[in-house]
Amino acid sequence: MARWPKKAAETLGLRNCGGRRFVAPAMAKLSTYHQKRDFGLTREPRGAVGKGDKHRFVIQRHAATRLHYDLRLELGGVYKSWAVTKTPSLDPAVKRLAVEVEDHPIEYGTFEGTIPEGQYGGGTVQLWDRGTWRSQTDTPERDLEKGHLKFVMDGERMKGKWALIRMRDDKHRPGTRVRHNWLLIKEIDDEAARGSKGDALQKAVTSVKSGRTLDEIADRSRKVWNSNRSVKENVKALKRKPAKKKKKAPAKKKPAKKKKAKKAAAKRKRK
Ligand code: MN
Repeated sequence: MARWPKKAAETLGLRNCGGRRFVAPAMAKLSTYHQKRDFGLTREPRGAVGKGDKHRFVIQRHAATRLHYDLRLELGGVYKSWAVTKTPSLDPAVKRLAVEVEDHPIEYGTFEGTIPEGQYGGGTVQLWDRGTWRSQTDTPERDLEKGHLKFVMDGERMKGKWALIRMRDDKHRPGTRVRHNWLLIKEIDDEAARGSKGDALQKAVTSVKSGRTLDEIADRSRKVWNSNRSVKENVKALKRKPAKKKKKAPAKKKPAKKKKAKKAAAKRKRK
């Protein structure tokens, strides 16, 4: 941030940051962008620099223990992530619970396939929506810290203005690190729809990547994300073409037995 004589700053079209401090509007945006990234570690996200305020987003519909929608907003080189417990509603009067989860790597954003049973997030993942988003303010990082992000989505299914509002933490457990609960709310605009029309997105059950339903992905998916492997290993495995007519290695007997025993135990329990 440079100190400028006021007249010179005005001539150059710089933005006043208080006192005699001025910055060029574009640079103000990029400075945050640069601070947030370690270019030695992260692959440069497509389009983020040139367009300044556009970021990718994805929503992965995830048939785990319970069906939910994993909303991921690209920011600072990662996907900020929330597990939305029900289909997002187009009705501004309907709030959806969005449980904050850990940041996800950008590479995860194109994944569609299965996570093996027994692993973290085990189940089928469907790429339900993708596109770009931008903040309604110049300070999305600060807004997220404060628990109040207003943004605009330009996806195949999610469009227009939305808000993420963080709920208060449990007063009875001060200081404990819990998962923050947020609310995902549609804001009033042309894309909003009241009443039963607000449920329109529930009819969207196919993948925006492959057109497949969750069942179809589960049936025929060769793509597997092993959550006990690193991102690099997973991406490498997904890129690898399946070997031609290679005989499957015989499954290790011990884990299979264990799994069966576990399943049987679970069945007995249910009964
Ligand atoms: Mn999930």
